[in-house]
Amino acid sequence: METRTPTTLIDAVRYFSDPDVCLQMMVKVRWPNGVKCPTCGSEKVSFLANQRRWQCSTKHPKRQFSAKVGTIFEDSPIGLDKWLPVVWLLTNCKNGISSYEVGRDLGVTQKTGWFMLQRVRLAMQVGSFWDKLEGDIEADETFIGGLARNMHKNKKAKITGTGGTGSGKAVVMGLLDRHSKQVRLVHVADTKAGTLQGVIRKYVRGGSYIFSDAWVGYHGLDREYVHQVIDHAERYVDGNVHTNMIENFWSLLKRMLKGTYISVEPFHLFRYLDEQAFRYNHRKANDGERFARVMHGVIGKRLTYKNLTGKTGPAIPAPALY
Ligand SMILES: [Zn+2]
Repeated sequence: METRTPTTLIDAVRYFSDPDVCLQMMVKVRWPNGVKCPTCGSEKVSFLANQRRWQCSTKHPKRQFSAKVGTIFEDSPIGLDKWLPVVWLLTNCKNGISSYEVGRDLGVTQKTGWFMLQRVRLAMQVGSFWDKLEGDIEADETFIGGLARNMHKNKKAKITGTGGTGSGKAVVMGLLDRHSKQVRLVHVADTKAGTLQGVIRKYVRGGSYIFSDAWVGYHGLDREYVHQVIDHAERYVDGNVHTNMIENFWSLLKRMLKGTYISVEPFHLFRYLDEQAFRYNHRKANDGERFARVMHGVIGKRLTYKNLTGKTGPAIPAPALY
């Protein structure tokens, strides 16, 4: 079986244009030890070559199944020859890719492109179930969208009073491990001490070093952590006391949101955070390795259009941490 993965975009589009190659890739990811019936688990299945489906030898409902069953691709009329290049593009383009580009490049509507991208972002959540961070952690929060985008925190504080965000602005809390260079993001309700410190306590082991700015929301952390504060009114770096790495990450995030996605509804923001955190956390991997990682994340996840748009109420189980 073909085992290489493409290393460039042109290569990828050409590579995935063969439906049999796509199918082989899905089988390799889904059933590395042989195809099994997703309903009963039986390995006695026969391949129906002209339909590119399998049939279970046991008689039960849903005897016939495709490689898409039980993945984010299930129930989609779009072929794997279009899905896999989208996975490739979103995984490897450092500023993301818009639904308009997907529509144009793959010959689907913009709306379909948007839905496809959201499903792939769900697959990129793989690796979001973390152990607690420990060591040297930079903590910071940033505002996305609305009036506060480019304002200094002191001004934001005046606008938002007690730390609420007002309308149109979302607060994202970031934790960045200086040594493993892994970032964790949470879309939080406000910048109050209870909120920000709640995230830190939940995801950073006690006794770790926490580097933050002088925002009042971080006061009191020194009871459980070694809290190192840089007052940006005075200076930005004092020896190893700074928040430069997380600040750099915010620039990348905002470049992506502003440049590629223009405006993102707060309701969907966590998906874009998943996307950027994934690429950042896997930036040392090559394109093929990142793609393989996301392909493992397509299994066991579903996202219907109703769930996605919230038309059935709070149907998306919001991950605790984005
Ligand atoms: Zn079966």
